[in-house]
Amino acid sequence: MTKEVKLVFLGGIGEIGKNMTALEYNDTIIVIDAGLSFPNSEEMPGIDYLIPDFNYLVQHKEKVKGFVLTHGHEDHIGALPYVVKDVVAPVYGSNLTIALLQHKLNEQQITGIETNIVTDRSVVNIGCFAVEFIRVTHSIAGSFAVSITTPKGVIFFTGDFKIDHTPIDGRRIDLARISEIGTSGILLMLQDSTNVERDGFSMSERNVGENLDQIFAQNQTKRLIVATFSSNIHRVQQIINCAIKYNRRIAFSGRSMETIAKIGAQIKELTYPQASIVDIDKISSIPGDTLCIITTGTQGEPESALSRMSLNEFKRVSIGSNDTIILSASTIPGNEKMIYKLINNLSRLGADVLYESLRAVHVSGHACREELKMMLALARPTYFIPVHGEYRHLKKHAELAEMMGVPKANIVIPEAGQIYGVSKSGIIKRELIQAGNIMLDGNQQENSEMLLRDRRTIAEDGILIVLVTLSQTGQSINTPIVIMRGLNLPDTLVENIKDSVAEHFLTTDTSESDFMDAKVVVRKLVSKLLYTHSRRRVMVIPIVINV
Ligand SMILES: [Zn+2]
Ligand SMILES: [Zn+2]
Repeated sequence: MTKEVKLVFLGGIGEIGKNMTALEYNDTIIVIDAGLSFPNSEEMPGIDYLIPDFNYLVQHKEKVKGFVLTHGHEDHIGALPYVVKDVVAPVYGSNLTIALLQHKLNEQQITGIETNIVTDRSVVNIGCFAVEFIRVTHSIAGSFAVSITTPKGVIFFTGDFKIDHTPIDGRRIDLARISEIGTSGILLMLQDSTNVERDGFSMSERNVGENLDQIFAQNQTKRLIVATFSSNIHRVQQIINCAIKYNRRIAFSGRSMETIAKIGAQIKELTYPQASIVDIDKISSIPGDTLCIITTGTQGEPESALSRMSLNEFKRVSIGSNDTIILSASTIPGNEKMIYKLINNLSRLGADVLYESLRAVHVSGHACREELKMMLALARPTYFIPVHGEYRHLKKHAELAEMMGVPKANIVIPEAGQIYGVSKSGIIKRELIQAGNIMLDGNQQENSEMLLRDRRTIAEDGILIVLVTLSQTGQSINTPIVIMRGLNLPDTLVENIKDSVAEHFLTTDTSESDFMDAKVVVRKLVSKLLYTHSRRRVMVIPIVINV
C-alpha cells in the first residue's frame, strides 16, 4: 500500500496568479484549479499570459481523472482551455465557474470536454478521492472551498475566500460545515494568503453598495460611468441596482463586461429588467443624467474602453465636466502607473474621478488576518501550508498559523515544482519537478525564452541589416547596404562597417559553398565593430546574395 498522498505545486506559490495544484495517489491525479497570470509587459514584451508549466500532468496524463475548480477567476481557470488540449479529464465547478469556462472553450472552439456543475456540499468521487464542495464568499459568485478525503486523511483547500456575513446573494460562507469537518479531523489545510498583511476583518461587499448609493444620490445631474472587474458579479449587480433606483438606463461597455452581463443573466446570477439596458452604440440619444455606463478598464489597460475614453479616442463617449467616474476596484500591484495616468487623463477632460483612496468604492475579496484566524480556529488542521501568495505572504501566514496553535514543525512554506508526500506521519519533501511558466501570446502561441531575448535585444538596442551582393567568384559587387531600425549610428561608423565588409570579400576568396559561412563572417565582423565603437550588442542580420 502506498504510504502517502503526493501533493504537487505547479503554480500559485511565491506569486499571486496561475494557481494549480495536483493531488496524486496510486493511479489517480486530481488537479485543483488551472489558472493564468498576466506578465509585466516591460519584462516580457509580446507575452499576454503566463500559465503553469504542466509537463508533469502531460507525463502522467492517463492518471489525471478530474479538474476541480474553486471559482471562476482567471488565476484559477484561465489556463484550463490550454491544458485540456493535452490532458483530458472531467471538470467540476459551480454554475458560474462552468459557464465562464464554457464561454472560453467555445471561443477557442474546444469541444468534447465533460463539465459538471456542483452545488453546496456536493460530494464527487474521483478515483480514490472524495471531493466535497463548501460554499465560501469571495469577489466572484459561486466560490468553493474543497475538502478532499484521501486514503491518508482529509486535505482542505480554502480556495480564495473572505468571511462576508452579509453577501449580496445572501449565500453566506458555510462556516458550520467547515467546523464539522474540522471536528472530524483535517490532516492538512491550505489557505489563501493574499491579505495576511492586513489586520482585522475585510469589509462586506454590502458596504460598497451603500457608498455607491450615496454617490448616485449626490450626482443626480451627472452622467455616471462606473468601472469594475467584470467577474465581480455582485458588484455589477449593486451598480445595476443603484442605476435602477435612480432612474438610469444601463449600458455595458467592454468585451468581458458585455459577456458577463449575458452569461450572468442566463444563469440567473445577475438580474436586471431588459428594458433598463441600452446598447452602448445607441447611447447618444440618452441624456447623461439618466444613463449609467458600466465598464471594464479599472487597471488602466491601454486597450480598454475607459482608457480610450480618457484619450478621447472612444467614439461613443466623450468625457467632460458632466461626468462622474467611479473606479470600483483595487489597484493590482504593478499597475499603479497606468491607473494614475488614466485618472490624470480623465480629470484633465473635466470629469470627477472617485477611486479607492478617496471613497470606499471597493472592498477586497480576500480574508484579512482575523478571518484567516477564524478559519484556522474552525478547521484546526494537523498540518498547514500557506498558498496563494508571494513569499513574504507565505512566511507571515506560517507565523499566523503557529500563533493559532499549529506546531511550527507541522507548517511548510511550499515551493513551486516541489512534490511533498503527505501522511499522518508528516509532510516530507520528495522529488523536484520541472515547473515555471509557459509564455503565451494573444493567439495562444507558445513563446520561447530565446524569442523573448531577441525581442528584448531589438527593443533595447535596435536592429541592423547588412546586405552584401557577391559575384559567382565571391567578390563583393557593390558597396554593402546597411539598414538600421531603432538605432542611430554616426555616419563614420556606418561607412566603417560598409568598408570593412567590402574589404573582407575583396581579400578573402569565398567560393559558392561558403555562402552560409559568409553570413556568419559578416555578422561577427559587424557585431564586433559595433561593440568596439558603441558598446552596444545590436542584433545584426546579414543578407548575402549571390548573383
Ligand atoms: Zn486567486
Ligand atoms: Zn479569486
